[in-house]
Amino acid sequence: MKIVIGDVCTGHGVCEVIRPDVFEVGEDGIAHIVADELTEEDRADLELAVAQCPTQALRLEG
Ligand code: SF4
Repeated sequence: MKIVIGDVCTGHGVCEVIRPDVFEVGEDGIAHIVADELTEEDRADLELAVAQCPTQALRLEG
């Protein structure tokens, strides 16, 4: 499983609020993945982040 952040991210950080251990908005103003590894236990939170992202920048693969 992998989460991809598209270039339409505007850095408001909804994803970071949901999972600060996975997403971090950098000084460049966009979100980055900071988790080393994602497991099935993360899936529900990641699906929530995908659904809540205001610009639909997130895509869950696998
Ligand atoms: S919620 Fe979406 S737009 Fe906001 S920082 Fe995360 S990926 Fe970017």
